[in-house]
Amino acid sequence: MTMCLPIKLISTDFDGTLFAEFESPPIPASVQQRIGELQERGARWVINTGRDLSSLMEALARARIGIEPDYLVLVEREIYQRADSQYLGLAEWNAACARDHAELFARVRQDLPRLIGWISARFPARLYEDTYSPFCLIAGNNGDADAIHAYLAEYCRGIPNLGLMRNDVYARFHHVGYDKGTALAELTRRLQLGPAEIFAAGDQLNDLPMLSRQYAHWLAAPGNAVDPVKDAVRRQKGFVSQLEHGNGVAEGLDFCLRQAQRLRPARTP
Ligand SMILES: [Mg+2]
Repeated sequence: MTMCLPIKLISTDFDGTLFAEFESPPIPASVQQRIGELQERGARWVINTGRDLSSLMEALARARIGIEPDYLVLVEREIYQRADSQYLGLAEWNAACARDHAELFARVRQDLPRLIGWISARFPARLYEDTYSPFCLIAGNNGDADAIHAYLAEYCRGIPNLGLMRNDVYARFHHVGYDKGTALAELTRRLQLGPAEIFAAGDQLNDLPMLSRQYAHWLAAPGNAVDPVKDAVRRQKGFVSQLEHGNGVAEGLDFCLRQAQRLRPARTP
């Protein structure tokens, strides 16, 4: 059956793409069913998210889903693989990721008081350090986040490999070699697949790196996606649903599977 399936790896963002906290159920049956069927036919599913492991596990437990991702990309950069009931980090990739971030952040640290001073003099923003980044931001609203983003983008231009990963009012510094796109490329390589066999769906700015034909030929966005995401998906001939969250992804998967099936050369069974 596996060989019949044109899409072999499904990469979905979590919040806003599959999961809608205030819906019941938060991950709709339609998308659980689609992904579950594809997994049964041999496809792999990766949740590609900005969340860390404990926060994702908690949300998955509360959502009570009947399917399990085969892989996780966490904090838009670390890769985990399911082994029985747990998720184990891919040691080589995650170690390189941690090392590259530590080296980069060591260069940035001396400038943080100046950056934090500039922002807090102008905006009521929450600024903090966590395990993953010495600079994390929660802005008061998207307008503030845009202004702070523009200021920090200018700073990033002066530091090789430094980027600002943005998701709605949230942002943090990261190494530009690690994002949802490069993590998806690493998984694709490990599974010995190519971009023509990859589906990706997302709704926010931090999804843009994976919503690229460089990494995935089959692209979808739910109706609640922000305009830059919808534009990017449309520009690359992907599918933008009218339906929100998981229902939009289910429709996107159906659309892409039909298209992919049509493109395949006829093959004798
Ligand atoms: Mg999202």
